[in-house]
Amino acid sequence: MKKSVLSGIRATGRLHLGNYLGAVKGMLELQNDPQYKTLYMVADAHTVTTPYHANELKVNRREVIIDYLAAGLDPEKSIIFQQAEVNEHFELAFYFSSVMSIARMQHLPTFKEKIKQHPQGSTMALLNYPILMAADILVYKAGLVPVGIDQEPHLEIAREIARKMNEQYGTDFPEPVRFATKGEYVPSLKGEGKMSKSVEGSYINLTDSHDEIRKKVRSIPTSSYVGMDSKELLKTLFSYANLFIPKYKKQYEEELAKGTLKYISIKDQITEAIYNELKPFQEKRIEIEKNKEYVDKVIQDGTQKAKEIARKTVDEVKEKMGLS
Ligand code: AMP
Repeated sequence: MKKSVLSGIRATGRLHLGNYLGAVKGMLELQNDPQYKTLYMVADAHTVTTPYHANELKVNRREVIIDYLAAGLDPEKSIIFQQAEVNEHFELAFYFSSVMSIARMQHLPTFKEKIKQHPQGSTMALLNYPILMAADILVYKAGLVPVGIDQEPHLEIAREIARKMNEQYGTDFPEPVRFATKGEYVPSLKGEGKMSKSVEGSYINLTDSHDEIRKKVRSIPTSSYVGMDSKELLKTLFSYANLFIPKYKKQYEEELAKGTLKYISIKDQITEAIYNELKPFQEKRIEIEKNKEYVDKVIQDGTQKAKEIARKTVDEVKEKMGLS
């Protein structure tokens, strides 16, 4: 039996470089490895855990599918679907919530951080986010999850749930682990924290033009001010150099030591590398966008295939929990 893989991205807008390097690249690598059965969803239901607009979500849950296809996810090799179409995720999440304590969920650093960002958004949906994510993964008995490093606390919850369910009800859930990529943590362009859709000025969208990318990369902080350590200041720039132009890293470090490093030239070289990586994606996206029927069919087929697997797991769990 092939090992199952599950991953997803919330439908909060167009994908950015962090999503691409931290998640999509890993999704592609596993999709192209025949020992895995890969399932990739748009986590549209997860979008409602923080403030959002229904009309935007309606558009974005489809746009992310188009992004996936343009990035190279292939419906011949992967099951591609929208989470909200497969009710079994929510059914299983409810059963899973019976083995987790409220205190455990409230103490999660990711929960605390999100409440800080959205003080009015302390909802049950947000508290339940990691339980739903565990259900997303375990409803397909997936053991491998290509996501960024920020998702590690959530994977710990999924492992805890799998253990508890197996102990208490004799189920056979695997304890899922993260599949890490080189870009598991893409820093914000602003020099602090990670690249994130919710922080304006922190991200590069996969659909950004050459000019937009250049402007954004040039905004990476490089001018020092009193009291600022120069190594600390240049951390972000060098992270990008390491991700996109690794073969020049040593040269730039030597130039920095000699005091001859020109920030503008390293920034423009990073821009070229990012643009060259994104150009084929952007061209393919324009083609896929035009083909409405194809996109509809991918979603329809993917949903049906995902549902078949998910239903089996939920029926098994119901039986073991005394519900059938
Ligand atoms: P989200 O947009 O929060 O649904 O994240 C979707 C996927 O992208 C998850 O696998 C995240 O771990 C990954 N991701 C988001 N931001 C970054 C980042 N700055 N660096 C690496 N991975 C990221």
